[in-house]
Amino acid sequence: MKIIDGLVFHEGKGFVKETLCTEKGCFSLSTSEDKVLDAEGCYVIPGLIDIHFHGCAGHDFSDASPEGLAVIAEYQLSQGITSICPASMTLSPKTLQNICQCGRNFSRNNLADIARLVGINLEGPFICNAKRGAQNPDYIRQADFGLLKQLQEIAGGLVKLVTLAPETAGAMDFIRQVKHSELKDISISIGHTDSDYETAKNAFDSGADHVTHLFNAMPAFTHRAPGVIGAAFDTPRCFVEIICDGVHIAPPVIRAAFAMFGSERIVLISDSMRATGLTDGKYTLGGLDVQVSGRHATLTDGTLAGSVTNLYNCMRCAVSMGIPLEHAVQCATINPARSIGIDKVYGSLDPGKAADFLLLDKDLNLVGIYKDGINVSCNLI
Ligand SMILES: [Zn+2]
Repeated sequence: MKIIDGLVFHEGKGFVKETLCTEKGCFSLSTSEDKVLDAEGCYVIPGLIDIHFHGCAGHDFSDASPEGLAVIAEYQLSQGITSICPASMTLSPKTLQNICQCGRNFSRNNLADIARLVGINLEGPFICNAKRGAQNPDYIRQADFGLLKQLQEIAGGLVKLVTLAPETAGAMDFIRQVKHSELKDISISIGHTDSDYETAKNAFDSGADHVTHLFNAMPAFTHRAPGVIGAAFDTPRCFVEIICDGVHIAPPVIRAAFAMFGSERIVLISDSMRATGLTDGKYTLGGLDVQVSGRHATLTDGTLAGSVTNLYNCMRCAVSMGIPLEHAVQCATINPARSIGIDKVYGSLDPGKAADFLLLDKDLNLVGIYKDGINVSCNLI
């Protein structure tokens, strides 16, 4: 296929009017295929990749339900998220085993009309009680290499991220053990933590390279206590997740975070829960009751319990807060791909990569969704 006259996204360069080619489901330098897609007046960007969300359309990854996961993946693709790395909550080892097994089985059938599962994000259970947020305190555990190893075996290597509070007992040994073992490709993400700067910096220096939803569920960044945020800033190879739903973080803080970390290090995430795409009402998250009202999902005590938005809308939200479109796109595509090590195949429009791309009109409405070079949104364009 030839995609002509679109404004094509290039990392570091922004948008360039040029022709893009695909061949047999991958981007290519030229093509023998006859099909022409007229993208005049549209931005052409890579399919989005959400590496931290829990559920949507009434289902949660932690339900460990194959049917539910299919509905989740269908909803995500319909919103322009072509690859997903859903997150488990802090739950019992048995439940986490079931979730990992379910994710592994699901990843085997990459169907055309649903998002592909490219990884599993374990949000806990190795977190700190004081900053548990909406995680269930009953299942918080000390860092446990054996459990992570077992879960990765069950997941068939799909576990890409594990959240860890570095100040908890055994956490530093856990990081070193993971990074010197066959599990070394799993990113250790600092989060749900009460850690100070020194402890967090020690964790990064020992091998952690990611932060779970920067600002949320961690100490604030203040002038004499820089905390996890300061330690992440001082660790250039570390990616930081940001929930940009217009609720979790105030717009000036989003702008400050982009100025501080740069668009190379931020990973936009939705952190969405099962009510996403549905109406207000009562739902659950990780076994806890959640009330959804407008853009807010909260536990009974008012604690924020994930978002009710998807990654596409988070990207648009960032733009509405003053972040340049090319930066927001980078943070929802190639950065998440790099942060979980799938950037050789996904996350950009470069030759050889899977032809996952979106067409956006000038007002950033989603008008075309393509996965592996196939149009999955014939009602749109
Ligand atoms: Zn989460």
